[in-house]
Amino acid sequence: MIKENLEKILSHIPVYVKLIAVSKTKPVELLQQAYEAGQRDFGENRVNELVDKEAILPKDINWHMIGHLQTKKVKKIAAFVHLIHGVDSFKLLTEINKQAERNERIIDVLLQFHIAQESSKFGFDMKEIQEMVDDQTFFELKNVRIIGVMGMATFTDDEAIIRSEFQSLADYFQDLKNGIFRQADYFKEISMGMSGDYLVAIDEGSTMVRVGSAIFGARN
Ligand SMILES: *Cc1c(COP(=O)(O)O)cnc(C)c1O
Repeated sequence: MIKENLEKILSHIPVYVKLIAVSKTKPVELLQQAYEAGQRDFGENRVNELVDKEAILPKDINWHMIGHLQTKKVKKIAAFVHLIHGVDSFKLLTEINKQAERNERIIDVLLQFHIAQESSKFGFDMKEIQEMVDDQTFFELKNVRIIGVMGMATFTDDEAIIRSEFQSLADYFQDLKNGIFRQADYFKEISMGMSGDYLVAIDEGSTMVRVGSAIFGARN
């Protein structure tokens, strides 16, 4: 079924949109099936689970850390992580830079924006981004590369709400693209959209969709 699910989703999304298979809570056998079907980008939201799976599965997988990341756990994934989606503080960004430097690499990250109505979802607002870039040390972080933005819509069936939240993320992206990232051709990613709303997200400019249950089935 996993192969069929992947094929179906891929047939609905444009080639420039990257499909990240969100495999959190799922056993490695199912990830292996997705891998054999050609999937190479996987997303996890817990550091320990990510580390355990990375150790077992093939080395050409791109591992995406999509969940909230605690500063003290960055060092566990710094050697191999492909993209960290949920950067939501300057402190975290600074730690990622430090651990990337130790591993002699540059780690790609996305700035997470708070777009949902729920207060529980992590993320910056534009004012906090401004404060961060006003700090001169922001530009001294040479081992992180900010390649775009990420956000999660409100958990609701109301498509109008979801759509307007995705629009606001796309607007933040455009503001940054026209502003502090205007020289940065690598700043081009908008990570938004999950199983229930990835088509709406793509409509609103998503370049990366994070899809779990539509590939691997419902989680417990
Ligand atoms: C779990 C999760 C997803 C995928 O959710 P589905 O509804 O199963 O597609 C996407 N993004 C984040 C940040 C997640 O934690």
